[in-house]
Amino acid sequence: MKTIKDISFSGKKALVRCDFNVPLDKSQVITDDTRIRESLPTIKKLLADGAAVILMSHLGRPAETGFESKYSLAPVAAHLTKTLGIPVKLASDIFESKTVEDAKNLKAGEVLLLENLRFLPDEQKGNVEFAKYLASLGNVYVNDAFGTAHRAHASTAVIAQFFPTDKYFGFLLANEITNLDKLLHHADKPFTAIIGGSKVSSKIDIIKNLIPRVNNLIIGGGMAYTFVKAQGGKIGASICEDDKLELALDILNLMKQQGVQCYLPVDTLCGDKFDNDANQKVFPIAAIEDGWQGMDIGDATISLFEDVIAKSKTILWNGPMGVFEFSTFAKGTTVIAQAVAKATKQGAFSAIGGGDSVAAINQNGLASQMSYISTGGGAMLEYLEGRTLPGVAAILNNTI
Ligand code: AMP
Repeated sequence: MKTIKDISFSGKKALVRCDFNVPLDKSQVITDDTRIRESLPTIKKLLADGAAVILMSHLGRPAETGFESKYSLAPVAAHLTKTLGIPVKLASDIFESKTVEDAKNLKAGEVLLLENLRFLPDEQKGNVEFAKYLASLGNVYVNDAFGTAHRAHASTAVIAQFFPTDKYFGFLLANEITNLDKLLHHADKPFTAIIGGSKVSSKIDIIKNLIPRVNNLIIGGGMAYTFVKAQGGKIGASICEDDKLELALDILNLMKQQGVQCYLPVDTLCGDKFDNDANQKVFPIAAIEDGWQGMDIGDATISLFEDVIAKSKTILWNGPMGVFEFSTFAKGTTVIAQAVAKATKQGAFSAIGGGDSVAAINQNGLASQMSYISTGGGAMLEYLEGRTLPGVAAILNNTI
C-alpha cells in the first residue's frame, strides 16, 4: 500500500481529501470533532515535511443550489486553526480565480481549506473536468477520507487519475484498510461477528461475506425477529421483514453447512408500545404475546452472548442489540459493549463499525478500550461485503 509514511513531501503542494463531515448544532458549533482529530496525523506529517497543504472535504447533504451557510466548512477552518496553531484559510468560492491564486501562492507549512465540495453538483457526479480542475491546484494527491471511500466522487476517486504516480493513502485511510483486511484475511480464531440493527436486508451482504470467515455469528437487534419468525416463532408486534423470511432460512442453512455457530436471542425485553415509557415484559424469544414488541435482548441472552464474546480472539460488532436510544431498552447494547471491552483487555482484537454501535460505545465511555473503531459506517460495510471501494481502487491502480 502506497502510504505517506516513508515519503518526504518537502516542497510539494499536497491536495488532501479528508472527511470533515462533522455534526454541528443549530449555532454551527461542532458537537463531535472526532473526524477532524483523526485527520490530524496526516496533515501534521505533511506540514512537518515542508509541504503546502490544500484540504478538501464535503459536509452534510446540501441541495444542488450552491452555497448554504449551514453546510459551510467555516467552523472546520476555525477549529483547524485552533488545533494546528496556524491560520487555516477557507477558500469560499472553489471556482473563483482567487482560489487559484491562493493555492498558487500557498507556501510550505501553510494550509488552505476549500469550501464544501458538495456545493457543486459536479463533485457527487464525479465530473472529470471538475476533478481535473481540483487536481490542477496541487501536485500530489492524498486520500484520507475513508468515510467517503465507497463513493466515486470527483475528489474521492476521479481526481486520482491526474496523479499517475503521486497519489497516496493518508494514515487514517491506510489504518482502516489494514484493520479491515486483518478481519477479512488474517483474523485470529475464534472469530465472532455480532450483527444487530433494525433490518436483515441492510446487513445481508455483510453476513454472507462473513460466513466463510467467522466461527460464531451473533444476531441481535430488530433483525433477529425475522429469523425467529422464519423458524415458526411467535414474535407479537416485533419489527419483521416478512419478505425476507425465506432469505433468513437460507442464511441459517448456509451457516449450518459451513460450520458457523449462529447465536440468536433466547429471550427478549418487550414493550407494549415503541416508547421509552412503555410497559415492559420479558418473553421467551419465540413466544411473544400479541400486543408486545421486542425492544432489547433479555438477561438470558445477554449471558449467552457475553460467554461467546469472552471466548473470542477476534470480534466484529456492527449494529445495536435493541432500541438503545431509549434508556429503558439500552441495557443489552451497553452490556455487549462492556463485554467486547473486557475481551479486548484480555487480548482479543475488536473492531466496531456503524454509527449506532459507535454511538453506544461512546455513550458508555468505552472508545479507548476497543482495538479499532471505524470512521466510516457505509464504507466499512461495503468493504466487509467484499466490494471494491472506488476511493481505494483509484489509488491502487497505478501503484501495484
Ligand atoms: P441499523 O441502521 O440497521 O444498524 O439499525 C439501527 C437501529 O435499529 C437503531 O436506531 C435501533 O433503535 C434499531 N433497533 C434495534 N433493535 C430494534 C428492535 N428490536 N426494534 C426496532 N428497532 C430496533
